[in-house]
Amino acid sequence: MAYLWAIDCAAGPEEGTMFTCTMIAPGIAYGPAVIWVTAGESFRRQQISPPSVPAEIQRFDLARRRARHELDEIASRAEAAIGSSAAAIFTAHGQLLDDPKFFEPVVRRINDQHMAAELAVHATVEEFAGRFASLGNGHLAARAEDFAELGDRLLRHLRKEAPRQAPCLSNPGVLIANHLGAADIIALERRNLLALVMIENGPTSLPALLASALGVPVVAGVPQLSGRVRDGDTVIIDANHGYILVNPSALAFQEYRMRREIFDRFSTELAELRDVPAVTPDGRVVHLGANVGLMEEVPYALAQGAESIGLLRTEYFFLAHSDPPSEEAQYDFYAAVVRSVAPRRVTFRTFDLGCDKSPSASPTAEANPMLGCRGIRLLLERRDLFVSQIRALLRASRHGPIRIMFPLITSLTEFQETMLIVRQLEQQLRDEGMSFDARVPYGCMIETPAAATISDLLASEVEFLSIGSNDLIQYMLAADRTNPRVAHIYEPLHLAVLRMMRTIIHNAHRRGRTVSLCGEMAADSIYSILLLGMGVDELSMSPVMIPAIKQIIRGVTWAEARDVARGVLREQRAKDVAAYLEKMMESRFPRMMSIYGSDGDPLASVPEPDRLIFAETKSLVVPRDDQTTPVVAGI
Ligand code: PEP
Ligand code: MG
Repeated sequence: MAYLWAIDCAAGPEEGTMFTCTMIAPGIAYGPAVIWVTAGESFRRQQISPPSVPAEIQRFDLARRRARHELDEIASRAEAAIGSSAAAIFTAHGQLLDDPKFFEPVVRRINDQHMAAELAVHATVEEFAGRFASLGNGHLAARAEDFAELGDRLLRHLRKEAPRQAPCLSNPGVLIANHLGAADIIALERRNLLALVMIENGPTSLPALLASALGVPVVAGVPQLSGRVRDGDTVIIDANHGYILVNPSALAFQEYRMRREIFDRFSTELAELRDVPAVTPDGRVVHLGANVGLMEEVPYALAQGAESIGLLRTEYFFLAHSDPPSEEAQYDFYAAVVRSVAPRRVTFRTFDLGCDKSPSASPTAEANPMLGCRGIRLLLERRDLFVSQIRALLRASRHGPIRIMFPLITSLTEFQETMLIVRQLEQQLRDEGMSFDARVPYGCMIETPAAATISDLLASEVEFLSIGSNDLIQYMLAADRTNPRVAHIYEPLHLAVLRMMRTIIHNAHRRGRTVSLCGEMAADSIYSILLLGMGVDELSMSPVMIPAIKQIIRGVTWAEARDVARGVLREQRAKDVAAYLEKMMESRFPRMMSIYGSDGDPLASVPEPDRLIFAETKSLVVPRDDQTTPVVAGI
């Protein structure tokens, strides 16, 4: 299990070694490594004798109650310190401990297989975590880490170990942790923290999301670093390009001193753009929103200059609970988000759950969950979930402007069926005398080739379209977005994808509808001018990238951007498009490209055999006055 892997320091460091990793928060930092290792894997006893079974079950029960009590305390601390959705995570962990679905398998393992309590907990947590880890969709698969954190807590209580102390640095340093839980991030002392490396955490895991707002460079997903760095080693973290250098050469160090100065100056400049619109010199406005999953991310998103929340992934809230959250609990959460964002708008995406992505939503396993009952399909099957969510969202709409959109639509019939239920629920609320905004705009995510192909028909029925490029690319190119073996096939610049996007935008604009794009493409500077030129009205992205994308939009005319888009669509291969865009960006935004561009490899001039790159984990990277008015735009 990931969280039990210790960093094997015995292997020792290597001079000038470089690792690739995934950026969580940008920036450059260097300093001494401070290694923070969580629980070890060895168990004192694996098996027990049959007469010891009752005492062992009692021991487990005591540990469970103590862990429960500890979680209640953390939940109230988290509630006071950062807000209700972080608290809900710990409350949910606590509820899980009380859930027979979780504790009975542990007891059965002790009783039937005579496992020691530690091993029984370990095996049960592994089983639960495994179910989540096998999921296709990154941020849902990352829920496996919740179970890991829970298992860690239980094991500590079984071993009667002192409560885990949050990592704390007495001198400035780069914290390198094998695995951090959400509770660790919340308790993390920021003083002296230069950067954070989360070796085992997935880039879309909850702890990673929380860490993205720490205000220091953060990287994750670099298991190859285990055992190759020691306390006190000098490390350079280049979160902009996704590199970690251990004991760098004097030359590399000098290079990074310079890069950091450039980056710091650049960041200060970007911060000044916070309150200005993303508008081209010739007047084309692009609305920039933030993608968030938790209440805790909202203040950070607004501080980065987000003009709205362009994608609220509601399934994070769902998955923070061991049982489906009630309408009331959902209402409290949605209303709190809306209030904190108003007068700006929040675009809620209804639960994007899949059959085996949420055991409590559906117990049926599927051979191909990515092609199975996920997104709107699941919600139409599990009406109870859909009804409570739509009612809660509509009720929250009286606190500020919201939009609602549906994931993974594939046909007009599906959208119409969805809207029929929504209209019935609106009527139900009226009959009950509940107030809500009767003009909430409804939209459709375009994430499948089918929806893209009929985007003309869908655009006639909706108030806005939102391109979910992460899924659209994977379904168009038949390449699983989470499978590194087909990462080279998953090409955002594939002409099939770009032509499809142009069609979607064209179809929407002809019907007076706006188009937003909320996949990872929106946050990658290399695509900004192309998307602008193709006529996208809104981009919604990870909040950390909003200032940089805004600077690009403000630095290029719309006329120029359309020329670029025309040029790109005349190319034939993705690699030609990439070369074209890189060249153009290098001439238009040389400084930004030197910071974020692909030439960031500090060892680029070093001959091949001397280079050690261990991981390839670097990510690819209004009719109503709150609506953007679409301009028949693009090429
Ligand atoms: C997308 O598919 O682009 C998207 C934004 O949705 P998610 O990444 O949550 O599937
Ligand atoms: Mg999607």
